[in-house]
Amino acid sequence: MDDSAGVISHTLLAWYDGHARQLPWRLPPGSRAAADPYRVWLSEVMLQQTTTAAVAPYFARFVERWPTVQALAAASEEEVMAAWAGLGYYSRARNLVKCAREVAQLGGFPDQEEDLRKLPGLGAYTAAAVAAIAFGRRAVVVDANVERVVSRLFAIEEPLPAARKQIRAAAERITPQQRTGDFAQAMMDLGATICTAREPRCLLCPLQADCMARAQGDPARLPVKAPKKAKPQRQGTAFWIERAGEVWLVTRSDKGMLGGMRALPDDGWSARADGSGDPPVAGQWQDYGAISHVFTHAALTLSVRRLDVADAPGGHGEWWPISALDEAGLPTLFTKAARLVLAQRN
Ligand code: SF4
Repeated sequence: MDDSAGVISHTLLAWYDGHARQLPWRLPPGSRAAADPYRVWLSEVMLQQTTTAAVAPYFARFVERWPTVQALAAASEEEVMAAWAGLGYYSRARNLVKCAREVAQLGGFPDQEEDLRKLPGLGAYTAAAVAAIAFGRRAVVVDANVERVVSRLFAIEEPLPAARKQIRAAAERITPQQRTGDFAQAMMDLGATICTAREPRCLLCPLQADCMARAQGDPARLPVKAPKKAKPQRQGTAFWIERAGEVWLVTRSDKGMLGGMRALPDDGWSARADGSGDPPVAGQWQDYGAISHVFTHAALTLSVRRLDVADAPGGHGEWWPISALDEAGLPTLFTKAARLVLAQRN
């Protein structure tokens, strides 16, 4: 590490010692006790694309119900998916169970970044974060917060995503040999609380003297992002089929969007194509309006229709008591659709 890189990591760690956020999955700065890799891993998977405030109640529920990776490994996929409902990105919940089972079989989490990387669902970021935070390994941890801070510190003008290589090399230069877990968390905290996306609070920043973007003025313009492609707009229909206080739910196929989740039947929409509009059974369907939902790769307008029946509509599915619909673990899209019906239902 050259001198200026050493100054940056030293200054940032000193700042972290006094300003670390208290988070339920985190040990205080400089702790000698080892962090529990299960808690570190679980929190990092939950935190991808979600805020700490949104994750905290989920994390508390998960560790209360499944306090160890062995306990989570023994849970059914269905239970875990239901507990995950609302956090989004459901393939993560499926990988969570797969990973827990593999780790339980191994007798615990591996303590090297390259071995962690082989576990289901652990990308470069999560493997590095667990290696650094739980095992004190020197690993270069780069998430969106770190990308933002580093691109400003070194005034990296190349647009994302092409700039990732340069950003990683710069992050590598300033990552210290010691306290890498604290360093990674300090970068995350700086990005989340001071070097924020729109209005960086440079006057409060411990790194202001070393920051090239601040010296040049207008640091908020970095990182430069390549223009986004507009998301395709899809149309689909969800079907509310009701019988004596119960609603018909199906389990979505493992492949595709919201795979493996309980859901209302629908007309086969996907990120690539509109649905057919065809209901699963013939009848006097009533229209209940539509809801909008934005996924990573598409935006969906989902019309919602209702039919009252005497018999099950056929195919795989289950009757679910409407009064206990909260416990079905419906993903947010279908929770919105259900609310639309329930608000108008007589
Ligand atoms: S000085 Fe400003 S732009 Fe630079 S790292 Fe600190 S908060 Fe970010």
